[in-house]
Order: sequence, then C-alpha cells, then structure tokens
Amino acid sequence: MHDEIAHSKRLAAIGEMGASIAHEIRNPLAGIGGAAQMLLKSVKDNPRQVAILNEIIILVFRIENTVNQMLDYARAWTPNQALITPMQLLKEVATEAETMENFKQISFKFSGDDSIAIPLDEDLIRQVLWNLFKNSAEAMPDGGELSCHVQATQNELIVSIQDHGMGMDDETIKKLFTPFFTTKIYGTGLGLPICQRIIEAHKGSIAIHSALGEGTTISLRFPFNAQPRQIEDVQ
Ligand code: ADP
Ligand code: MG
Repeated sequence: MHDEIAHSKRLAAIGEMGASIAHEIRNPLAGIGGAAQMLLKSVKDNPRQVAILNEIIILVFRIENTVNQMLDYARAWTPNQALITPMQLLKEVATEAETMENFKQISFKFSGDDSIAIPLDEDLIRQVLWNLFKNSAEAMPDGGELSCHVQATQNELIVSIQDHGMGMDDETIKKLFTPFFTTKIYGTGLGLPICQRIIEAHKGSIAIHSALGEGTTISLRFPFNAQPRQIEDVQ
C-alpha cells in the first residue's frame, strides 16, 4: 500500500514536471519548425538539403505531438457533461477513423443499446474512443474486427471495445497506465494514461482484459442512474 502511494506520488510529480517541460519546449520547437519550412523554399534545387529539412520537419512534428500529449495528460480535467448517446458517438468516431490509412482493413461492429443516453463530456470521450480505436488498429496490422458494445445495468453504463489483435502479456498489462510506457517505435505511451484520467474525471473506471495472441477488450464503466421506467409504465 505504502509503495502504491509513493508510486502514484512519483507519477504525479512526473506529470507536473512533464507539463512545465512541455511549456518550455513548445515555443522554441514551433520556431525550429517554422524556420525549416522557410529554408525549404530556398533550397528547392538541392534534393539532399530538401531531404534533410523534411526530416527536421517530421521530427519536429513528432516532438510536438508528444509535447501536446504531455500537456493533455498533466492538465486538470473538468468534464463539461451533457446528455449524449454513447452508441452514436462510437459510430461517429468510427466513421472518422475509417477514412484513415491504418483503419483501411479494420471493420467496425456495433452491438447493444443504441439509444441509451448519459451525461458525458463529448469532446473528452471522443478523445478516449479515438485513442482506444487507434491502439486496437495498431494491434491488428493485418486488419480485423473491432467490436463496440454498449450496455446499461441498474447503476452502470458500460462501453466495451474489443479487438482480435496481438494482445498483451501480464507484464505489459501492469504497465499500461504508467506515463510514457510504450512498446511502439513511435508511440508516446500517453494514450491510455490520458484515457484513464478522462474516465476518472467522469467518476468512471477503465478495465483491460487481454490475452497474448487472442486480443484485447477495454471496458469503460460510468456511474448511471437507470430511469425507473418499468414503474412509470405500470402507473
Ligand atoms: P502508445 O499507443 O503510444 O504506445 P498507449 O498508452 O496508448 O501508448 O498504449 C501503451 C501500450 O499498451 C502500447 O504500446 C501497447 O503495447 C499496449 N496496448 C494498448 N492497447 C493495446 C491493444 N488494444 N492491443 C495490444 N496492446 C495494446
Ligand atoms: Mg496509443
């Protein structure tokens, strides 16, 4: 228990440090990117210099992406909750994803309750779904099914996302929510920690079930008050 508290304090410290480093890095980085863009115009006839500048621009873009994710992670989330239909949001994010290269071979499936509504912050949950879809697509490089399910109980609304990708071993599962943990060459390791912070800001929880070589299911649980519909119907 003691260890756990020390661990979470350490993570919080890393988060704060990350945010201040991120702020320090953003402006000079934008300067480097802008300067490289300008130089690109004046070296048009020299393919080698064009290649070097393009490499700089790509690398700057990658750091910018990491820095933005660090700021996202460290930021205090205050959800702005309004009634939304999770199934509709899942379908919207899936439709956006389908236009992208790494989703070309992914086929989305939807099941469960498609009309149930719950107060959530649409933009933040959109970000969570996008991160989860992206992880699933990256776990299925040869394509496959990505199944989304919405289900409500008396006091919970559960959104689950299942892939049949490479799955994870227990050691990987343990580290999933540690900022910067990644097994990918160009990963930031901030996707799931950001998801966790957003879900917890909604007083919900995120759970992972995964088996190596079989796939992964992520379940998001939100507190939910089922309307006493049956009672009203009877009256
Ligand atoms: P990133 O995607 O940048 O690596 P994430 O926080 O999104 O960071 O994920 C952390 C790690 O968790 C990934 O590098 C990967 O090893 C593992 N992971 C997450 N989602 C899945 C999934 N659906 N299938 C297999 N592995 C996953
Ligand atoms: Mg990710």
